[in-house]
Amino acid sequence: MESPFSDMDWLDTASHTLDLAIQKGLYADFSHLKSDLDRVRFIHNHRVTLLSNTFERYLSSTASSQTKNATTAISFRKKGNDYFVNKNLSRAAWCYRASIALSTVNSQDMALSYGNLSAVLFELSHYHESIRAIQLANDFYPNELKFKLVFRRAACYHKLNDPERSAYELKICRDLIKKTAGLDRKKIDSFCKEMDQLSQQIALLNQRKVEEKEEEATQQKPTTSYKDLDDLVQNSQTPTDTLASRLTKPTEKAPIDTEFCPPSPPSPPRSVFLIDDIKLLLNGPNEQVPCASSTLSMVYSKEKGRHIIANQDLPSDALILNERPYACLLLPKFAYTYCDHCLTSIVIPYVCPQCSHVLFCSEHCQQRALNSYHQYECKHIHVLKTLGIAFLAYRTLTITDHETLWTTITQTTLPNETETKTNSYQSDYLSIQKLITHTEQMSVDDLFHYSLTAYLLSEIIKSTNFLQCNQVKKRDTEQILLASVLLKHIQQMICNAQTISITKTNQINEMIF
Ligand SMILES: [Zn+2]
Ligand SMILES: [Zn+2]
Repeated sequence: MESPFSDMDWLDTASHTLDLAIQKGLYADFSHLKSDLDRVRFIHNHRVTLLSNTFERYLSSTASSQTKNATTAISFRKKGNDYFVNKNLSRAAWCYRASIALSTVNSQDMALSYGNLSAVLFELSHYHESIRAIQLANDFYPNELKFKLVFRRAACYHKLNDPERSAYELKICRDLIKKTAGLDRKKIDSFCKEMDQLSQQIALLNQRKVEEKEEEATQQKPTTSYKDLDDLVQNSQTPTDTLASRLTKPTEKAPIDTEFCPPSPPSPPRSVFLIDDIKLLLNGPNEQVPCASSTLSMVYSKEKGRHIIANQDLPSDALILNERPYACLLLPKFAYTYCDHCLTSIVIPYVCPQCSHVLFCSEHCQQRALNSYHQYECKHIHVLKTLGIAFLAYRTLTITDHETLWTTITQTTLPNETETKTNSYQSDYLSIQKLITHTEQMSVDDLFHYSLTAYLLSEIIKSTNFLQCNQVKKRDTEQILLASVLLKHIQQMICNAQTISITKTNQINEMIF
């Protein structure tokens, strides 16, 4: 599926700056530099000559692609409708999620896309999720169409084996149609037939449930049964705050009514990476590295640093490593398929209110991201997503709490060989700091490119409230220090980061393509 984001080429900009450094006779000076701090300081000191307004141009070149865009949101919804008509449900769902990401928060556009997504989820038999999508659509959905949402909710409750609730929703749907002026008579007549059909199905379901309960021979306590559908609706225990009263006030946020809330969808798995049952590891967990199988050993060599090897032949299809990563990123093309925070596949999307580049699988992930690292990414996420693995270096900084980060980077010395040789395993920021970089094997061109990228990242971080100090001179010092750390992380990521691919899918993953 085509991403709506424009392609920018950071490589072109970096290559242009490298040519400029050669022209100005600065390349040779750069090639003699020995430390990351010296390299980024060099870029900083020559920024006027080398960068002129290159960075500003790059940072602002596609600024509009970062924000919400109603026109693109509508076009994705229309594409979704075409896929839905043609029964291509996974693509329809993707288009509706894209439309939701691109819509302004609390807009009718967003409500319509949530509403359409609820239809896809219904077709995929995800009834709890469909009800949740209807709930998210409700407040800003066009009043004259709300009866359709209520009808879908009635159908969901019928599928969920709840005839009382289904009958109640159907009654609200009929009331809404009566109250809505100007509806197309022909369309309503055919819609009424659908309602009558559902009504019969509810009656049958109710009858079946009554019979089942009778079969249980009323051993313990008497069960409630109803003469007919009207009896069922009138006597069922429905909330007093009717949906109809809420539907007529579209701009008012519905109060949280726990009694009325539809059942919550099953909570998403905590992470796609960490399987709770550690016994699944082949031959049990490793003594040195608890997240690895005991069929592996951690060893040290001067060339490779600390690394893991197999200590016996491994069968195929065995779980040998089960590690939650310290920092992870989604490839940009998966932004509307997986959660930006936990990487779980998205069924109901939750958005960032500012940018259109991320979606989350739950309110929990949304709040965790927005209240932490995403605030340092949001404004320039369209740039960050063009920087590949350097974005992972950036996130490694922004997910680390400030105190740990500043303490570690101001105190850490170069990796100590004897310390590394102890083969101890930790998953913390200090361990990241000590990963090997292989700087000596990198070409000057590459080091120049990475230094430039690290400096660009430090400009982005400086434009947020990440730096601790407000004084200009101290802010420059902090920026250069962070740029040197980012340069180190970029080099570390190149030889230490892993790409994770999905090779198997479950039922929910059927929606992924
Ligand atoms: Zn998530
Ligand atoms: Zn954002």
